[in-house]
Amino acid sequence: MRFRFMNVATVLLCVLSAAGQTPERSKALEPFVRVDASRVVLTHVRVIDGTGAAAVDDQNVVVEGGKISEIAKGSDVVAAEGTTVLDLRGYTVMPGIVGMHNHLFFIARPNLNSRREYDQPVLVPQMTFSAPRLYLAGGVTTLRTTGSVETYADLNLKRDIDAGKLPGPHIDVTGPYLEGAGSPFIQMHNLTDPEDAKQLVDYWADRGVTSFKAYMYITRAELKAAIDAAHRRGIKVTGHLCSVTYKEAAELGIDDLEHGFYVNTQLDPEKKPDTCSESQGAYTLNQMTPESSEARDLIATLVQHHVAITSTLPVFENRAGGGRPPLRQQALDAMTPEAREDFFYARNRPASQPAPKIDPALLFKRDMELERAFVAAGGLLIAGPDPTGAGDVVPGFGDQREIELLVEAGFPPVEAIRIATLNGAIYMGRDKEIGSIAVGKNADVVVIKGDPSTTVSDVENVEIVFKDGVGYDARKLRDSVKGRYGAY
Ligand SMILES: [Zn+2]
Repeated sequence: MRFRFMNVATVLLCVLSAAGQTPERSKALEPFVRVDASRVVLTHVRVIDGTGAAAVDDQNVVVEGGKISEIAKGSDVVAAEGTTVLDLRGYTVMPGIVGMHNHLFFIARPNLNSRREYDQPVLVPQMTFSAPRLYLAGGVTTLRTTGSVETYADLNLKRDIDAGKLPGPHIDVTGPYLEGAGSPFIQMHNLTDPEDAKQLVDYWADRGVTSFKAYMYITRAELKAAIDAAHRRGIKVTGHLCSVTYKEAAELGIDDLEHGFYVNTQLDPEKKPDTCSESQGAYTLNQMTPESSEARDLIATLVQHHVAITSTLPVFENRAGGGRPPLRQQALDAMTPEAREDFFYARNRPASQPAPKIDPALLFKRDMELERAFVAAGGLLIAGPDPTGAGDVVPGFGDQREIELLVEAGFPPVEAIRIATLNGAIYMGRDKEIGSIAVGKNADVVVIKGDPSTTVSDVENVEIVFKDGVGYDARKLRDSVKGRYGAY
């Protein structure tokens, strides 16, 4: 999409065509808008409402003024002036995905080769252009960035999306990583002490950041200072931890923990306080069967302290051994040729490489078991794909894959969809407006061909994504970034 200066006439046209829409939409969005009317009636559609309730066949869903205004038994409706009618027999609607580990960057390993060797420093280039389009195309209407590298870019992107100047989901911008000394990522600030952590939180909260994420090398004292500073402003803190165990973090008041139960280090051999262990949680995960007293005690602590867990299964999938489906062609098509090449190198398993000490397939299964035990105990499980990994987790596609993997973990499809939609809204304190299909809520609605409540892989068949009542064409959004993901 090339930027063009608008003359007075086109500005007027925009104002007129956007009547009733707030905010005013720029011309840059027009190519992607498939449905926009003051009243839209989705007729004869199956509804998965996002609460975990069973799908209901043959419903009419009415969208007016950006909200869901009516849900009724299916009936034929005649299109009229100002009313667009879509016949959606054979289709399903579900709430827009609330993606809770949805980065706006890619991971670049300089000079990666077929032996999986690469040079330092590893970099995470911004995907400010491609990621928002791929997320929206995949059905994500709200996301948390869960750690930012170019925080100003993310904040300005959010501003421009909200102003209707750029396509993309609503964004909860997470501040720069709260990382301690020793981080391998050259783009991250390394905290020096608790006062530094407090200052970082205050500085970025003043500039519009709405969440924070602690990282692998933070100390307990720094984490505590960051949590206290964020909570004073009503802002939540999550963590991808290593130096601090899950239990320690829960007791310090953290709100959420990333990567399921993968990065809890409490049972790792030679784990020292405030220091990341060599195993980075793999040993603990292997030890912690759901029936173990350690797992039961940990889950009880998390539930008691209202700590959510973010499931990020797609980022672990390619380590989980054979029998995994290949990456979808559409996801490969989104990548630059270089990103595609790196993806194939990264998934290469050279014979010279030693086998991992603990079977990754077993860890994948164990994590799934613990996520289910956490939910069974009353814990709030939320979801996001963590795009990056070996370059194989791509925005939007990864969000759909997360739902499929939650079903593999044993959740019924409608429960998996709830985890990826309403639960995220509950975590963000926004469940009055978003996260489910209900009268009065924002019309963030995904139109899918097929029935994901019986065939979960149908979540991949997204055709239209309504955000605040405007229907965007998924294919056109995807096509607009073909061959760009990995570049910008
Ligand atoms: Zn991440």
